[in-house]
Amino acid sequence: MLKHILHDHLDGGLRPATALELAKSINYKPLLEIEDVESFFDRSLSNSLEEYLEAFTHTIALMQNFSSIERIAFEAAEDMHKNGIDYYESRYAPFYSVNSSTTPLEVIDAINSGFKLAEDSYGIKSGLILCGMRHDAEDVINVANLCVEVKDKIIGFDIAGPELNYPPSLFSESFKKVKDTGINITIHAGEGDGVNSINDALENGAMRIGHGVRIIEDINDEKFGNTASKILDLQVPLEICITSNIHTNMYEDYDSHPIVDLVDYGFNVYLNTDNRLMSNTSVSNELEIAKGLGIENVEKLLMYSASDSFFD
Ligand SMILES: [Zn+2]
Repeated sequence: MLKHILHDHLDGGLRPATALELAKSINYKPLLEIEDVESFFDRSLSNSLEEYLEAFTHTIALMQNFSSIERIAFEAAEDMHKNGIDYYESRYAPFYSVNSSTTPLEVIDAINSGFKLAEDSYGIKSGLILCGMRHDAEDVINVANLCVEVKDKIIGFDIAGPELNYPPSLFSESFKKVKDTGINITIHAGEGDGVNSINDALENGAMRIGHGVRIIEDINDEKFGNTASKILDLQVPLEICITSNIHTNMYEDYDSHPIVDLVDYGFNVYLNTDNRLMSNTSVSNELEIAKGLGIENVEKLLMYSASDSFFD
């Protein structure tokens, strides 16, 4: 069986050494003044979501031209290959890299070029999911329109950013447009916001749920609510990212994370990395953590059914 990673952000997975090299190449001072880049980016002990998210301003600052983006994409796929992954789905908010000399199309081509280089070297297949940032309504509309324009260069559409107060239904028109074009949809839901956000994601065309951990809150005394029943019955894939949930202060520690219960209830759980740099993690590390929590045959959590895949 082939192993997949479904949920991993390109701007959350730079190698620390690459970040430093790229910072030097463009004389990006905020990173050059730091003694240890690896621990600077490691936000495991961040006290707030803001502190966690601040790290992204520095990775995005390094993703402003074709060759840097291409290198970051290549290295992400290479690192996934070294962790035994055969299919890597990577996501990124393309307009973060658009500037006076880099167009949206160039951003996408740079990422796909990096992925192609990795495929030529290692055989790993990588695909790009474009993210709209939900706190910026215009960005979501622009990314959805871009998806339609470049549908043959991408494998899906997502909305990322703060969930609370930004439910998927705010962007129903964009989701409809994307869906009508035949583009796959996954939506971040059920992490920063509760069960309703998961239902809202399903109603807006989500074929998978990014995180979705809080579906557990729809099960009380072994009784399943409507959304939990739907997610279980339809076997909607849940893109679970254990360490990330702890670092964004969703759960206090690994033992409080509901992954074991989700697996035991029979949900369609997949293990993912989310932001490898900020969470100082990797596929292998997440597997070890899941194993430590008592899940048997953890490798199964990477084996995605081909019929559900976003790859053709
Ligand atoms: Zn994510």
